[in-house]
Amino acid sequence: MKLKTKITLGVMFLFTLLLLVGGTGFFYLNRSTSEQRDILKENYETLDYTKGMLEAMDNRDTDPEGKKAMFEQNMRGQESNITEPGEEYVTRKLRRDFNALQDHPGSLEHEKAVRNDISAIMQINLLAISEKNKMLNHSSDSAKFIITLLLTLCAIVGLVFVYNFPGYIANPIVTLTEGIKAIAGKKYSERIHLNRKDEFGEMAAAFNNMAEELDKFEHSNLARILFEKQRAEAVINSLQDASIGIGKNGTILFANPQALQLLNLPETAVIGKKEKLLREQNDLFRFLMTEESDQPFKIVVDTKEQFFTKETIPINNSEGTIGQMTVLKNITPYKELDVAKTNFMATVSHELKTPLAASDFSLKLLEDERVGPLNTEQKELVQNLKADNQRLLKILSELLDLSQVESGKIQLHIKEIDASVPVKRAVEAVTAAAQQKQVLIDTLLAHQPLLCKADEEKVAWVLTNLLTNAIKYSPAGSTVTVQVSRETDTMVISVTDRGKGIGHEHLARIFDRFYQVPGTEKTGTGLGLSISKEFIEAMGGKAWVESELGQGSRFYFSLPLA
Ligand code: ADP
Repeated sequence: MKLKTKITLGVMFLFTLLLLVGGTGFFYLNRSTSEQRDILKENYETLDYTKGMLEAMDNRDTDPEGKKAMFEQNMRGQESNITEPGEEYVTRKLRRDFNALQDHPGSLEHEKAVRNDISAIMQINLLAISEKNKMLNHSSDSAKFIITLLLTLCAIVGLVFVYNFPGYIANPIVTLTEGIKAIAGKKYSERIHLNRKDEFGEMAAAFNNMAEELDKFEHSNLARILFEKQRAEAVINSLQDASIGIGKNGTILFANPQALQLLNLPETAVIGKKEKLLREQNDLFRFLMTEESDQPFKIVVDTKEQFFTKETIPINNSEGTIGQMTVLKNITPYKELDVAKTNFMATVSHELKTPLAASDFSLKLLEDERVGPLNTEQKELVQNLKADNQRLLKILSELLDLSQVESGKIQLHIKEIDASVPVKRAVEAVTAAAQQKQVLIDTLLAHQPLLCKADEEKVAWVLTNLLTNAIKYSPAGSTVTVQVSRETDTMVISVTDRGKGIGHEHLARIFDRFYQVPGTEKTGTGLGLSISKEFIEAMGGKAWVESELGQGSRFYFSLPLA
């Protein structure tokens, strides 16, 4: 049955009960009123007539005609108001006795008979009143009983209704609300069991259908997401480079087998863990997360040294950065090739240096008059050959230094030195070239002791290189200044020239290997400054430059104080 029908029937039932109680009450009230009215009409009127007749009897001596008419009037009223059994007989007897009294006025016997008749009529009516009163009381009692019964029934039904009806309506709504909340919380397995065939039952069935559809949809979505996840994992796992992905909240999202092998950890100890925790447990992971330089580093894998570079790539989507991926590139094969190249360079440079030195010596002998006189053209040729030889020797020595730097085998003899010593040695070494270019070298040494910790040879080498450049790029007649000054915790040596200077865009790369400012005469190798920087850094110092195009350049390097 429909809920609507049930509610209508329930309300109708209560309404019927109400009508029944009201109707019954009205019926009994009406009945008792009419009974009372009947008593008044039937019996009390008779009493009135008998009273009138007695009055007429008592006073007939004073006004016989008037009282006779009065008696007659009451007699007729009584004759038309016969209601009780036996009343008719007594009334007829009264008429007879009254007529007899008229015929024999003054007869005491007839008067007595009349008075007795009147009294009998009164008696009959008084008795009837008393009887009717009893009956009235009785019917009012039974009315009370029936109305009370009906009211009790009404109250019981009403109470049962009040007790059950709100729950009957509200309970399914509460159940449905809970179901909707569960669905909102993505618990699509939630179902409602109402076991009813009304609108609530239909609603529960509709809800369960909806939940089932959502469940199916969720599962199909989940399957798709799982499939996509597996595909993404397959892609990551097939990457040759070790890769570790970290989410925005610091959780490790993925790490491919290569990465797990390097970290020497099982998948369960890495994926889904907080990177902060893993940093504390794993040295390599800590190094990867904290190291900022992009320099290659070494990891021993299966007792074999392997070289890697690290790259950190942000993971972006439409909402912005959602994490980062750290990729470790195994550069061991390149490193091995590089080492082979460095060894080859060192060997070739070393092997070439000896014949070149010998040919230099032979050229010196050729210049000697004792060997034989040379004409002017021959002398010029020998000079040119010597200059080329010198250049070749310089290049070879730079290549040898580079191979030392590259192989990490810079031989340093660091000790406490006076900075003015290598400065003087370098200035001496370039004096001839300066004179030739008509460049003046000015040396400014601070007055305090210039003690620092460095390799004298290497400092002189760097300074010679800087001075050679300064002279090379200075115009004739200008001055190159070498300055040594003591800062708070370092010794700073600078070489300043008033030459063509270096453009801003080249300053960042000037210390790179083989870098030459475009347009520079290709006499050098572009290695001098980079080797100088490596030497200075190996000694614990720093090298830098300040330059303005057309204003000259100032190269600095610092050394730790002794
Ligand atoms: P090389 O002098 O052998 O080319 P360097 O490493 O010493 O190599 O110098 C690299 C480049 O820097 C030079 O080719 C030159 O273009 C620029 N450079 C070096 N010193 C100076 C200087 N004092 N003034 C202007 N340019 C310079």
